[in-house]
Amino acid sequence: MRGNIYVVGMGPGKEGMMTGDALAVLDGADLIVGYPVYLDQLGERFAKKEKYSTGMRQEKERCLYCIERAKEGKKVALVCSGDAGVYGMASLMLELSEEENDIEISVIPGITAALSGAALLGAPLSHDFCVISLSDLLTPAEGIERRLRAAAEGDFVIVLYNPQSRNRSGYMKRAADILMGSILGDRPCAYVKNIGREGEEAHICTLSELGDADIDMFTTVFIGNSKTRIIKDKLVTPRGMV
Ligand code: SAH
Repeated sequence: MRGNIYVVGMGPGKEGMMTGDALAVLDGADLIVGYPVYLDQLGERFAKKEKYSTGMRQEKERCLYCIERAKEGKKVALVCSGDAGVYGMASLMLELSEEENDIEISVIPGITAALSGAALLGAPLSHDFCVISLSDLLTPAEGIERRLRAAAEGDFVIVLYNPQSRNRSGYMKRAADILMGSILGDRPCAYVKNIGREGEEAHICTLSELGDADIDMFTTVFIGNSKTRIIKDKLVTPRGMV
């Protein structure tokens, strides 16, 4: 029997920011699997669907459960916040199903935090940008620091995911200090919290202010390039470099 697994990006948090394809796949799924917070966010529309969740750090178990159920011939939707391919579960799902011949895996894109956050701020990503995760759970700290330095050196707009959490405090300050090795402290920056969810906030600040800002794991951080400026309370990176 051939089963299907759809790895679905839910966007930042509310139904209106999910794509039509994502909603259609969830409507047609036999069961929806995900981290409990994301399943809760799905709300009324999917209240009657069979659901399965495992806690944080149990990503592998979640994927293996999807494979098991798909092998029964079920249509399984595995949900992730934002886009499933951006620090999400799509790669793990593909890796773990490498030897499986009876299931088809489809990745359904979603709006990643860099894009939903940028829209709230104005237009900070209108020129070359890069995305760096500050989480050293799966990546050695030296590698992250090397990328921060290279991004600053390359004059990219930089978007930081997983900036810090209760267990990883001080990471934002350390990253800001590294960036200030080649960027002046008055560089326009911003951080956006709880995009598309209760408690949504957007703040514009400078690079030197970022280290002490109220930043947690539900925050995405933006560092402008050398041309980024503030226009009527919006963060704007011009499309040209002249
Ligand atoms: N797959 C997700 C990213 C997962 S990594 C995506 O594409 O958006 C988790 C990090 O993403 C968080 O630490 C935060 O930096 C960012 N993030 C995800 N959802 C967010 C939201 N609703 N508001 C602000 N930041 C968010």
